[in-house]
Amino acid sequence: MKPVIALVGRPNVGKSTLFNRLTRTRDALVADFPGLTRDRKYGDGRLGDYPYTVVDTGGIGESEDGIDAPMTSQSLLAAGEADVILFMVDGRAGLTAADEQIASELRKLPKPTYLVVNKTDGVDADAAMAEFYALGLTDVMPIAAAHGRGVRSMIETVMEGF
Ligand code: GDP
Ligand code: MG
Repeated sequence: MKPVIALVGRPNVGKSTLFNRLTRTRDALVADFPGLTRDRKYGDGRLGDYPYTVVDTGGIGESEDGIDAPMTSQSLLAAGEADVILFMVDGRAGLTAADEQIASELRKLPKPTYLVVNKTDGVDADAAMAEFYALGLTDVMPIAAAHGRGVRSMIETVMEGF
């Protein structure tokens, strides 16, 4: 059984960009996967030897201007169903109150959770990551989803346990 990876994070951090890269699609499918809650975008992908299913928890109807709650109940359900959670933040925007709220929701879930600091292209990755350690997650990985940097090593780290 392929592990299910949930992409979680406030709007605009790059979840859909990473989803499309991990599934090599431009527009995500709305698939009908038995046993998984519907109404979200699921896709299959593979990097190297690692096949997986990825869920973009942006959800249908998420507003682009971010007036929705930082984490919708749909996103929380998707996170609860997944085998592993990639909690995405924006390394350029820095730590926000919404990130902190999401972190506190995720702490209640007994799931392997990795903090993925996106948009580290053209910035110092270590500096971009530094303030996010305050969220209390020990596994922090820098990527640039739009360009693919760090994505392979992120997947290799995440898939080690499967
Ligand atoms: P979502 O709301 O979390 O699904 O975020 P999107 O995937 O829609 O991306 C939001 C914006 O961030 C878009 O304009 C993307 O092009 C941009 N973006 C995503 N990944 C990166 C990245 O690695 N670097 C930069 N500079 N921009 C990115
Ligand atoms: Mg999205």
